[in-house]
Amino acid sequence: MSIEFDQSAIVPSNYHPMISEKKIQERLEELGAEITADFKDKRPILIGVLNGGFIFLADLIRYINTDVEMDFIRISSYGNARESSGHIKILKPLSADIKGRPVIVVEDIVDSGLSIQFLQNMLSAFSPSELKFATLLHKPSKNKTNIKLDYVGFEIEDKYVVGYGLDDEQVKRNLRSIYYIA
Ligand code: 5GP
Repeated sequence: MSIEFDQSAIVPSNYHPMISEKKIQERLEELGAEITADFKDKRPILIGVLNGGFIFLADLIRYINTDVEMDFIRISSYGNARESSGHIKILKPLSADIKGRPVIVVEDIVDSGLSIQFLQNMLSAFSPSELKFATLLHKPSKNKTNIKLDYVGFEIEDKYVVGYGLDDEQVKRNLRSIYYIA
């Protein structure tokens, strides 16, 4: 896939390239193939975690070659800060009925792991038949939990990253590649 689109006008000088658009798409094709094999004819519900997970979910489902349903949930833990407060609120609840259904939670990034721990507790109470986690990015050095991440795009160092859905104080989500701020 190669679509040339110059976004340099919205990339500040303290942003440094980390993962290119091409690398992201290549990895998504691999993850999509794994999910297709694992969930063939099982009609999983993919739950995108807003706001950060929306682009990852939108691209990922187009690399999946079996029927899937989708829904979104919105939780908040950070506000505008860059460190997790640990206080997680549900800002938009699920709409789908996940009882007895296979579910894949689709996150942008696992940092402290507190968000997915919260989601695991909350969603298992609805008795899905399976509950799996997909994340585009994982910071293993920061993750305080031992929740199994079933599909991981990239493991990264402890840096604040932006682009491809991830924000810098609510902007820059539209960048097609991932950058770190330094
Ligand atoms: P956790 O609960 O695992 O600490 O953090 C999960 C949420 O924090 C992510 O869904 C994301 O919204 C936000 N987050 C964590 N690390 C980063 C980062 O490096 N960049 C951005 N933009 N958001 C992050």
